[in-house]
Formats: sequence, structure tokens, C-alpha cells
Amino acid sequence: MQIIEIFKSLQGESSYAGLPCVFVRLAGCNLRCVWCDSEYTFKGGSRMSLDEVMLEVQRLSPNGGLVEVTGGEPLLQEREAIALMERLIAAGYKVLLETSGERPLDRLPAQVVKIVDVKCPDSGEGEAFHIDNLQFLTPRDEVKFVVASRRDYEFAREFIREHDLSSPAPSVILSPAFRKDAAGSRDVAHCLLDPQLLAEWMLADELNARLGLQIHKFIWDPALKGV
Ligand code: SF4
Repeated sequence: MQIIEIFKSLQGESSYAGLPCVFVRLAGCNLRCVWCDSEYTFKGGSRMSLDEVMLEVQRLSPNGGLVEVTGGEPLLQEREAIALMERLIAAGYKVLLETSGERPLDRLPAQVVKIVDVKCPDSGEGEAFHIDNLQFLTPRDEVKFVVASRRDYEFAREFIREHDLSSPAPSVILSPAFRKDAAGSRDVAHCLLDPQLLAEWMLADELNARLGLQIHKFIWDPALKGV
């Protein structure tokens, strides 16, 4: 499979945020979100066998733990990504999959935690999510909206209500989009939408969802890769 990077860091943007996690970042994406922070995944990377990926994951985290399969869009390499997830689960890892939900989610191993990033209109990819995928979400899965504006917030709010995504599950996370050119200092001024504003909207609407910040961007330089 075509791999951009494998590294260990803290999980940054789900209900697992803050936990140590090995990231396996696959190459390629079929979307072009305007605030994308992973454009370096669009091409390149290295060809690695399943055995080589497993060895690297086991070297970084020999005692099990969290592994996130991410991209780009990892399901563009569906056959290899599923085989990898099956191997990771068999080896005792808890597997998270970050996906836009544009590809089918029906063939994934049942144990995988799907973190589905439903694109809002101001990402430029607001039509990307495949609505049929909602039926394949389970209580262990998470739906995330990256929000850059009031328009995005209202899209997310109506999506949550229309599809009854709130309690009991799956978990729903709203996260302010980060500026692409953010670098150096690490503060909320780098968010395209002030998190305080987003919090106030969520409270005013009694939205049963979690406010998420991309904590890795507040810990390390936002422009740094492999963290
Ligand atoms: S889906 Fe992810 S990797 Fe692809 S363009 Fe959007 S933010 Fe970037």
C-alpha cells in the first residue's frame, strides 16, 4: 500500500483525544477541502507491504493500544486498508479509521471505530458524504463536523437533528476549522471560527454534541507534520 508516514503521537480530535496513538497515514485523497492541512498526502509516499507496516506499528507501540488509519482518504486503498485493519485487530490493537464517508463503509471490520468527517459547505466539499453510510454507523462510531462559519454550524446542527445523531450514539463532535497558514505560536487565533463562538451557539441550541479542538495543533507547531 502507498504510505505517507507512520508515527506515534497523541490522538488529537475525537473522544480519544489525548491518548497515545500510532498513526498510519495512507496516500491519496479524492476531495479538496479548502482548509485541508494534509495536502502533502495527495501524492507521493512509499510503497510498503502489510508486513512492513505491521512491523513499524509494533516497533512504535509493542504493547498494543490505539492505532489510527488515516489519510488523505484511506478508503481509496480499501482492499489494503481493510487487510491492515484486520491484522491490527488480530494483533490486539484498538483501531480508529478517519474517513470522509464518501467511500462505502459497509465492508469494514465490525471492531473498527469509524470517525466520519462529514464535510460542511464552506469546506467546498459539502456534498461529499454518502448518506447511505449512516446505516453502517454503530454506537462506537463518531461523526465529526469541521466548522468554519455560521453557515457550516447550521448545516451541522440540521444534519444532527434531521438524522437524530445525538444521544445515545454515535458521538458527535463539532470542531472549529484551523487556518492552513497557521504556524509558530499556538492559539485560538489560528482557528477560522472562534471556539468561544461555536461553544455559545452549541449551548444556545442545546446541541447534544461535543466541542472538539485539534489538541495536537495547540501542543506542537500547527504546521508540523508527524505529530
Ligand atoms: S478529506 Fe481530508 S485530506 Fe482530503 S482534502 Fe479534505 S481535509 Fe484534506
